[in-house]
Amino acid sequence: MLDEFSSEELTRIALECPYHHYHLEEDAAYTEIVDFETGKIVKDGTQGLLIGTNLLNKATPIIRYHQGDTAKIIGVEKCECGSNFRIIDLVLGRYMDSIISCDGEIIPASCFMDLAYDWFLQFHIPIHGMQYQIVQSEDGDITIFLVVGLYKLNDTDLCQIKQSLYKLLPSNTNISIMEVESIPVNKGIKYRPVISFKNAYLNGK
Ligand SMILES: [Zn+2]
Repeated sequence: MLDEFSSEELTRIALECPYHHYHLEEDAAYTEIVDFETGKIVKDGTQGLLIGTNLLNKATPIIRYHQGDTAKIIGVEKCECGSNFRIIDLVLGRYMDSIISCDGEIIPASCFMDLAYDWFLQFHIPIHGMQYQIVQSEDGDITIFLVVGLYKLNDTDLCQIKQSLYKLLPSNTNISIMEVESIPVNKGIKYRPVISFKNAYLNGK
């Protein structure tokens, strides 16, 4: 086993075999993929929200539970490892932290966090101590909020930070940048660097 995709509530969801396939652990949790908006089961090969039913916990049944994870089921494929369990693909991170492009593409938060590394690694912007939050509003526009530290960002820095997002987003996306005293969305204990209000799941629809 190379990797494990699991959670406290659903135990083992999928395990990665030596042939780099993630096989669902069908005897530990029953996994379904449903449409983000309608909640209906989607066809294999379609990306959606992962719903799991824990088959082991008899004391506290956890039935069709979701944690906001997105994935798609490939289906049953003959695999060299001998497993007959369905193969799941692209665990794309939590839907609630994904940005939705104007083309409908769901881009996970981790991709934007990788971009933020480039602000330092590629553009050599001395970002130490700088906190950021990338927020997508309901209409799809994106604002990068920067809580700057000791170093004052100049216009080139700001331009490079803004431009970096177009590596992931279509060129007609409205992106603006704001220097603020504190990040605008700060609920709960966990800092969330990327948030989308365009996202139906987050809006509770
Ligand atoms: Zn396999």
